[in-house]
Amino acid sequence: MIFDNHNRPITYLRLAVTDRCNLRCFYCMPEEGIRYLPKHQLLTYEEMERLVRVLARLGVSKIRITGGEPFVRNGLMDFLWRLKATEGVDELHITTNGVLTQPLIPELVRMGIGSVNLSIDTLDRERFRLITRRDELPAVRGTLDALLAHDVPVKLNAVVMEGKNTEDIPLLAELTRHHPVDVRFIEEMPFNGEGSHYPVLNWNHRRILQELQTLYPDLKRQPDSPFSTSTTYQVPGYQGTIGIIAAFTRTFCGTCNRIRLTAQGTLKTCLYDNGVLDVRALLRSGADDAELTAAFLKAFAHRPKNGFEAEHQRGPVTESMSTIGG
Ligand code: SAM
Repeated sequence: MIFDNHNRPITYLRLAVTDRCNLRCFYCMPEEGIRYLPKHQLLTYEEMERLVRVLARLGVSKIRITGGEPFVRNGLMDFLWRLKATEGVDELHITTNGVLTQPLIPELVRMGIGSVNLSIDTLDRERFRLITRRDELPAVRGTLDALLAHDVPVKLNAVVMEGKNTEDIPLLAELTRHHPVDVRFIEEMPFNGEGSHYPVLNWNHRRILQELQTLYPDLKRQPDSPFSTSTTYQVPGYQGTIGIIAAFTRTFCGTCNRIRLTAQGTLKTCLYDNGVLDVRALLRSGADDAELTAAFLKAFAHRPKNGFEAEHQRGPVTESMSTIGG
């Protein structure tokens, strides 16, 4: 296992397979004028497989596929099967908006997918349309129902935003009454693709917790899984759990075990850094596995201590979460 310069193990890769998305969530990307990467700038599946093999040899055993929306990239399922069979990859997970996912769930189950994170900021169709600029809630609900019917471990991710979906906090939390889901409320971050404005964080992790405690005075703190970014709670007697992710306040950097590869092959060792290694350039210049390994190790030995240090080193963020791989 490899440890970084702050003695944190690096065991978890979030791999963005595309920067394209079939939704236009206002907090993630502008409505129009998005410049998607031309295909030749994306890592190919073969390149990604090779990088995963190299990283798995270094001790990265958990992979999360993300994007953009992973299921908009052709050939994803074949790629997932190959990743699942890669030596050293113990866990394969996926983060999706659920628009195209439902018909693929039986195959994901056969493959042995570890869990699915489904992004769903609201249970109200009109609010969904306003937030995502698309009328796709029925498809997303279909995916949720199918995941539950197939007993796939599910985490539901909801970004909490003043004036947009705070009515949904109780509605989403109530899903944990009868379903073994983990509903996670996330602080909004500045990765909106516009660069020009930072969100005013009206709903930080403390306020979200206060709201939950008002709704559920007997809300109980639960143990968090190791390296979790989420602080976990449960309403006694409910089947699922409720998590709060302080994504903007950044309370969890001390145990961060994750790295990211963007769809164009940039390595990020912190969500808030500006990309620390152009892995695609290395690959395409003919680097062998030993050279790739050396470059990864060097990057891991220079990780910022936390998201504030990373942000300080780069200046204000300008990119969209969909290009980073959320
Ligand atoms: N398309 C997939 C999905 O919707 O889950 C994967 C990519 S998406 C960028 C991953 C997650 O990032 C989603 O849960 C989304 O809500 C979250 N996200 C995007 N922009 C964000 C922002 N500015 N602040 C907080 N979370 C954000």
